[in-house]
Amino acid sequence: ITTYYAEHKDDRTVTKDGKTVDLVANISLPVELKGLKEFGGQGIGLYRSEYLYLMKHTLPTEEELFQEYVTMVRFLKNKPVVLRTIDLGGDKIASILEQELLHEDNPNMGYRAIRICLDRPDIFITQLKAMLRASHYGKVQIMFPMISRLEELEQAIHHFETAKSILREEKVPFDENCEIGILIEVPSAALMADKIAGKVDFISIGTNDLTQYMMAVDRGNEKVNHIYCHYDPVMIRTIQWIIRSGHHHKVPVSVCGEMAGDPLSILLLVGLDIDMLSVSPIFLGPVREMIRGLSFKDLQDLVRKLLKMDKRQDVYKTLKDRFISFF
Ligand code: PEP
Ligand code: MG
Repeated sequence: ITTYYAEHKDDRTVTKDGKTVDLVANISLPVELKGLKEFGGQGIGLYRSEYLYLMKHTLPTEEELFQEYVTMVRFLKNKPVVLRTIDLGGDKIASILEQELLHEDNPNMGYRAIRICLDRPDIFITQLKAMLRASHYGKVQIMFPMISRLEELEQAIHHFETAKSILREEKVPFDENCEIGILIEVPSAALMADKIAGKVDFISIGTNDLTQYMMAVDRGNEKVNHIYCHYDPVMIRTIQWIIRSGHHHKVPVSVCGEMAGDPLSILLLVGLDIDMLSVSPIFLGPVREMIRGLSFKDLQDLVRKLLKMDKRQDVYKTLKDRFISFF
């Protein structure tokens, strides 16, 4: 079966009735890149850039970051690579920020991701410059995580513009059209998706954190993790709103959380008219194969039914029955 997936790695991911769903990969470590050689995909939909910061006891330099990104960009040739700016904090404690990050009562709601970057422009601009420099060698898109307010997005864009002007002064080449996007993973950003969509080139939905924050449930906490569930009607409504908001502004919307690789959720996401799914490299083959067997029109009908349901059990059962009916 692995050989079958490898043989079909360059096939387009299109439903039986012609809806294209771009299929890209989530990468957390450079070593995972080899999975792309084997299983294809149209690019990288999420590069979790924390790795160099977590490995070292000092902040990585612009040159070190650039070398990491450019290696990846060259590997991908001209396929797009979405580089996410650092998502440190929460459960990812870098020793360099240990003082600030340890002993928080609520780390997932604390000093994290874009919040650190906006507080420490030195760290942020170094990373943005390295990402922009890599954009000269391929197709780089830059994505900001954990945005919870429009003001934060505007500040992030301001720093992005500053990084560009520094590079211009330094006469270092970069792609002037490098696109920027947002990872929507906080409910406040989800509700503002219509406003946000007008300010970005693409939107990706981080359903792992979005589910956690929508349900106010720490999924690491066994006592309450039964409440964590991405089949909940609230997730369907929220994702639908984000996709519609993106499409209203002609902005593509992807999902890069675990939902994107979960067969039942794929029925839902395709029916909601998702443009792109970003999954672990090992899922590229099975997800491509599954989507090629689906009918977009049937799934739109299914979603209409799901949207009328009040309870996650009903959503889950309906999705499961539909999935089983394929075999
Ligand atoms: C998410 O929250 O869904 C996401 C993709 O980001 P991470 O899993 O790295 O938090
Ligand atoms: Mg996240």
